[in-house]
Amino acid sequence: MRWLQRLLRRQPPRESATVFWLYVRCGRCGEAIAVRVDRRYELVSELRDPGEEGPAYTLHKDIVGNRCFQRITVALAFDHRLQVIERHIHGGTFLSEEEYRSQTRPPAAGQPSEA
Ligand SMILES: [Zn+2]
Repeated sequence: MRWLQRLLRRQPPRESATVFWLYVRCGRCGEAIAVRVDRRYELVSELRDPGEEGPAYTLHKDIVGNRCFQRITVALAFDHRLQVIERHIHGGTFLSEEEYRSQTRPPAAGQPSEA
């Protein structure tokens, strides 16, 4: 049963290095939506030659919220270090993590209403 021990001993992948979150706002109903992206599985390699212009990886994602059926299409471009270098969205707008949190959490009492 060695194979089983090996299987059980296998470490879970470290999420932080490969997973990040996209935050978008639905263009129709205004719903704030968080989408999990796994760089290992969802990025498509553009197979560039070294030094060639353009993104090394791209990501396309269709997002539908819970409140309506609006389809939000997101396109991201990454350099070879997997940093986002370009992003486009249709059907909604990008939110920062802070904006997303302020949309999904009721404002604390006593806080000024201005952002
Ligand atoms: Zn919506």
